[in-house]
Amino acid sequence: MSRYRLVPSAAQEAVLQDHCAHARFIWNLAVEQQSWWRPGRGNAPGYLEQARQLTQARAEFGWLRAGNQMVQQQALRDFTQAMANFFARTHRRPTWRKAGRDEGFRIVAVKAGHARRLSRNTGEVWIPKAGWVRFRWSRDIPAGAKSYRITLDRAGRWHIAFAAIPEPIPAPGTGETVGVDRGVAVSAALSTGEMLTVPRPGPARQRRLRRLQRKLARARRGSNRRARVKRAIAKLRAHEADARKDWAEKTSTDLARRFDAIRVEDLRVAAMTRSAKGTATEPGRRVRQKAGLNRGILASAWGLLVHRLEDKAPGRVEKVNPAFTSQRCSACGHIAADSRESQALFRCVACGYACNADVNAARNIAAGHAVAARGGDGVARPVNREPHLLLQPA
Ligand SMILES: [Zn+2]
Repeated sequence: MSRYRLVPSAAQEAVLQDHCAHARFIWNLAVEQQSWWRPGRGNAPGYLEQARQLTQARAEFGWLRAGNQMVQQQALRDFTQAMANFFARTHRRPTWRKAGRDEGFRIVAVKAGHARRLSRNTGEVWIPKAGWVRFRWSRDIPAGAKSYRITLDRAGRWHIAFAAIPEPIPAPGTGETVGVDRGVAVSAALSTGEMLTVPRPGPARQRRLRRLQRKLARARRGSNRRARVKRAIAKLRAHEADARKDWAEKTSTDLARRFDAIRVEDLRVAAMTRSAKGTATEPGRRVRQKAGLNRGILASAWGLLVHRLEDKAPGRVEKVNPAFTSQRCSACGHIAADSRESQALFRCVACGYACNADVNAARNIAAGHAVAARGGDGVARPVNREPHLLLQPA
């Protein structure tokens, strides 16, 4: 996804805000309908039924009719997709959108001429009812972009993101498989021994964030000062989120280029086993608090990374049951909680093999037999060069 800073004029901003309000209204209507549905009440309204109701609602409400039909229809389609994702268990159930928090709308059927470059740093895009709106041309628009989404973040910044599913990256054809493990503390590890570091706010930024949060706690509700502090916090957070997105893009491209198969933990089961991984000695309470903060950041960056990997390496991403990946020796297959000597170090109690704990887990993931009750076969294998026939995707 390529995201650009949108710079609407004041008049255009009012139009965009209307689009956002309409999209939010329709979305929330769909959420409400869905929440009324119970087994035995017949089918929950599908897209077609909702589209019919949208036509009715437009006939009834002048302010809705005044808005753009495509924006409203697209909000419904997005909701239908969100429900499909929910049923496929890849996403959470879609929830209410709040004014000022989840602002955005989507425009589809974008034609090639609808976004163009004006100068070195400026481009403009055609937005229904708003006309040509300028944006910062920070990089080239992806070829074949058929839709875009406009969002307003809590810092008051408008963005446009052109959606073009990235071209799949051809597999290198080396037969190599890589395992990627999310580290508990700071980073992710590859079975090659490389460590991936998700960009996180440095100490100075963290201090600034804490200071702002204290300020926010002291500021009176509804005061100008409070709004200003809130904006500053949102800006700081948005900056961090951008850095993580960038990281996910670069890392996914790199992995898709270098490896034929990329194995990651199956997150649906990871949540259940995660606590077992945390049983290694954790000195001190502050470490735990920090780990909590890191976990949140890691989780979001991780989700992003896997998503982009699946776009760029379709059919080459395999999800592995993560059970015992942290307790299994990647050299001899012995499973023992005691082998996890510390958060950082794995030392096999059976064969003495020692390794960074996250890399050991990544090697188990790469080998694909991290599945419970399969470990401990006592056969040592080369870590990331197994022929595909031996692989056991979960
Ligand atoms: Zn061992």
